[in-house]
Amino acid sequence: MKNEELIKISDLYLMNTYKRTPVVLVKGFGARVWDIEGNEYLDFVAGIAVCSLGHCHPTVVEAIKEQASELCHVSNLYHNELQIRLAEIIVTHSFADRVFFCNSGAEANEGAIKLARKYGNEILGGKYEIITMKGSFHGRTLATLAATGQDKFHRGFEPLPTGFRYVIFNDVNALRNAITDKTCAVMLEPVQAEGGVQVPDEGYLREVRELCDEKGVLMILDEVQTGMGRTGKLFAYEHSGVTPDILTLAKALGNGFPVGAVLATEKVASAFEPGSHASTFGGNPLAMAAAKATLETLIRENLVENARKMGIYLKDCLTSLQKKNGIVKEVRGLGLLIGVEIDGDAFSVVEKCFRKGLLVAAAGPSVVRLVPPLIISESDCNRAVSVLQQALE
Ligand code: PLP
Repeated sequence: MKNEELIKISDLYLMNTYKRTPVVLVKGFGARVWDIEGNEYLDFVAGIAVCSLGHCHPTVVEAIKEQASELCHVSNLYHNELQIRLAEIIVTHSFADRVFFCNSGAEANEGAIKLARKYGNEILGGKYEIITMKGSFHGRTLATLAATGQDKFHRGFEPLPTGFRYVIFNDVNALRNAITDKTCAVMLEPVQAEGGVQVPDEGYLREVRELCDEKGVLMILDEVQTGMGRTGKLFAYEHSGVTPDILTLAKALGNGFPVGAVLATEKVASAFEPGSHASTFGGNPLAMAAAKATLETLIRENLVENARKMGIYLKDCLTSLQKKNGIVKEVRGLGLLIGVEIDGDAFSVVEKCFRKGLLVAAAGPSVVRLVPPLIISESDCNRAVSVLQQALE
């Protein structure tokens, strides 16, 4: 069947929620995917920062296959070995003492918001307000939409849950002025990804941490997109030298298998007790097998270091492109989370790259986002930059 034929059927049956590139992808391996007609694409989207080990990494495929034939799902009414093992690895490699598993980024952020509220109400003496950043993105459930500091995502869904206030990102004074005696937490992305790949000034996260400590409020980092090695450290907070109280993960955690997690210190996690929070599918054996294989492979194959190195290489190539091409206004990012701000329409550049066999995404109207698998090589970067150059011309 051809792309076009299947897309006609899609138009009949699926809810109209996505603006999709007109292609049906059916196969992937490493940094490449193929469509239903056999056309090959170099994938610098990776399922939007999800397939960090590359598509169909053999270790993850094997782990899923093996687990699928052993036990796919058990309720959290029972203990589950893979959940215990994965939590142990995450705790060993992070600031966290405890982990709660769920199924997506929004669900992880919902969990983080609930944990902060419970801690604020019960331990901080009735504090409930959460300050988030303008330009942020935290998900599409009602609470995470309310946490998202961009009006365009709110429109049509009012009334949104209350208890959120927004301040300018990368401005610690604005944050200081916004904290009240009702504030229980500050929630932010270490790099704003959907908001156009905005990297804060060096020292900003440290200042936020210090302010949170001074005011006795929690610091929540949404590392749904920046976590799992994407920025050249296993977690982006490691660049800052400070640690959060709560952190959320999803996207690359399962290399494509849907899984999310809320990480927290012992002190904060203790606000949850049996009955406070739950998820039927959260942490099920199949998801845990995928995530455990993913995290172990990421560490064993030293892909975080490759992300750091390739991030520098790709950014250098794009900066050279900027010098040659007046349309490129700025190249920014950390590791392999890179945004190319252009003087033009990012969606049309995305479309042109696609026609030339390269998948990239937009992050807002004027930013082309590159979030390739962390396994990419210099030659993949060269190819991507060459296609992007043609598309910009
Ligand atoms: N938080 C951040 C920083 C994200 O980038 C995203 C998705 O792009 C989310 C949360 C929502 O994750 P999900 O789509 O898995 O619910």
